[in-house]
Amino acid sequence: MTAKTIDGVALSKLIRAEVATRAAGLAARGRQPGLAVILVGDDPASAVYVRNKVKACEEHGLRSVMEVYPASLGEAELLARIKLLNADASIHGILVQMPLPKHIDPQKVIETIATAKDVDGFSVHSAGALMAGLPGLRPATPWGCMKLIESTGVALKGKHAVVIGRSNTVGKPMALLLLQAHATVTVCHSGTPDLAQHTRQADIVVAAVGRRGTLTADMVKPGAIVIDVGINRNEAGKLCGDVDFEAVREVAGWITPVPGGVGPMTITMLLVNTVQAAEAA
Ligand code: NAP
Repeated sequence: MTAKTIDGVALSKLIRAEVATRAAGLAARGRQPGLAVILVGDDPASAVYVRNKVKACEEHGLRSVMEVYPASLGEAELLARIKLLNADASIHGILVQMPLPKHIDPQKVIETIATAKDVDGFSVHSAGALMAGLPGLRPATPWGCMKLIESTGVALKGKHAVVIGRSNTVGKPMALLLLQAHATVTVCHSGTPDLAQHTRQADIVVAAVGRRGTLTADMVKPGAIVIDVGINRNEAGKLCGDVDFEAVREVAGWITPVPGGVGPMTITMLLVNTVQAAEAA
């Protein structure tokens, strides 16, 4: 069997078209969705991520404000700036690009963002709402993974999903979203003794580790849906995920590529969250 590729670029285009329509509707009513993106320091990868987010806003009718500060910015100054953005009615979403310089406490920063503007969905309040099954802003990457899984048309009820990775930003919210969709969920991590024993039983595998070659063909049940969140580089410096794509696609039923799978969906769901926040304002 050769797996069907789940095209994150194509799905993103569809969802982004809806975002643009909703943003235009809001703008016509005098409430153009606004996203503030804050970058502290000069990490080149973070600068690229931030630029891509700002560009995506501009292309879909959202207003974006990009603020870049030197790595020497004090924590108190950053928190003060966030508080001003919290009070700014033209800003509906606030995103502080991680990682932050060591002298700034990231959790303090996240908790300072107003809940209604927490478009990354990383605050304790947003995480709690997800856990309790209450409405709220969901973390973009796992939510994007859910959209990719939904696009296969496979009903999740009664299916076994294995999530590899338990970070607060990807693995844990991913497991909760799958649980909410009535899958039976197993979460694996670096302390899981026999990862393959779990993944071989899975109808859905989400790999969110950050280590290439984590999921090989012998670890996958025939016909499974495989979602690859990982971002790594191979020996040739080429972008790759956690999944051995070429071999796993011969076993799986559906698979996301890297690049072109989860990556584009992350920015797309950030746009969706910003529009949702503006609609709720
Ligand atoms: P993270 O915070 O480093 O978490 C990695 C997780 O993988 C941890 O829970 C860790 O377990 C687990 N792990 C490590 N080695 C393992 C092993 N051998 N077997 C099983 N589990 C293992 O990373 P993250 O932020 O969740 O991101 C994961 C990957 O996704 C990274 O490559 C990141 O760049 C990528 N990512 C991509 C997007 C996108 O838009 N495409 C967005 C976010 C992240 P412990 O908890 O036990 O340490």
